[in-house]
Amino acid sequence: MKIKTISEELKRIYGQKIYKLSLQSGCSCPNRDGTVGLGGCSFCSMGGSGDFASKVDSIDKQIEEARARVDNKMSGVDPTERKYIAYFQSFTNTYGDFQHLKELFTATINRPEIVILSIGTRPDSITDEMFLLLEKLNKIKPVWIELGLQTVHERTAERINRCYPLSTFENTYLRLKKCGITVITHVILGLPGETHEDMYETVRYLSNLNPPLDGIKLQLLHILKDTRLYDEYQENPFHIMTLPEYTEVLLECLRILPEETIIHRLTGDGPKKLLVEPSWSANKKVVMNTINKALRENGFI
Ligand code: SF4
Repeated sequence: MKIKTISEELKRIYGQKIYKLSLQSGCSCPNRDGTVGLGGCSFCSMGGSGDFASKVDSIDKQIEEARARVDNKMSGVDPTERKYIAYFQSFTNTYGDFQHLKELFTATINRPEIVILSIGTRPDSITDEMFLLLEKLNKIKPVWIELGLQTVHERTAERINRCYPLSTFENTYLRLKKCGITVITHVILGLPGETHEDMYETVRYLSNLNPPLDGIKLQLLHILKDTRLYDEYQENPFHIMTLPEYTEVLLECLRILPEETIIHRLTGDGPKKLLVEPSWSANKKVVMNTINKALRENGFI
């Protein structure tokens, strides 16, 4: 079975490689400010799981700066023809002043070079009026909502301080699908205390969602400096997957997933200056070569 990767899907739809522009909405996170939890998910660094995102304020300036960072990779495409995904990644991007977010998302989606609006958030942080707004925006251009589920196991969710139950994910998922929104779910492989079978159970659950899941990001757990996970690991080290082990787990996850689920990510980029473990993941070239070789040998690409 061949997998469908997001880069190929976008190329097929838009006729060119589409780059993501990392943008900031100015939102914080209810799992950091005490609304649902304090201190955040244990793996989350102060950048709110978006350590590469731009730090500037106005959306025009952010887009301009983000374009400047990726445009050197698009030299073959006429500047007026270049297309991008506006990606609000850091923190919980539907958790903030509604009027501000309405203006921000509307201005962003209406820019001619933006073809998709992608919003990372928590499933417990989408209000009724936000659902209505997302539904409306999705009629202008595709809206993607990225939900950080990470695991279906409540004991792990508790251990990583996710601070919402699986039922919240499921209710929000169904509601988003009812609004016609594309949903991409983040899963972390290698969470503390999880066996391979635990990880497969998470992927099996997502594979059985109805309506089917649009996309998935499979991410390797990174232990970053100055996180609660780092402290936990220092006090009580847990198993860290090797690259061959991660590759094996990844292949099994891909075997479980339905053919139509679009694969948005097969690993993850931890900021090198903060990365503690797995140290092998700092060598992106070796990681990608190993994964791609395994994908080829197993008929996935
Ligand atoms: S919900 Fe997201 S931003 Fe908030 S603490 Fe967890 S990973 Fe970080």
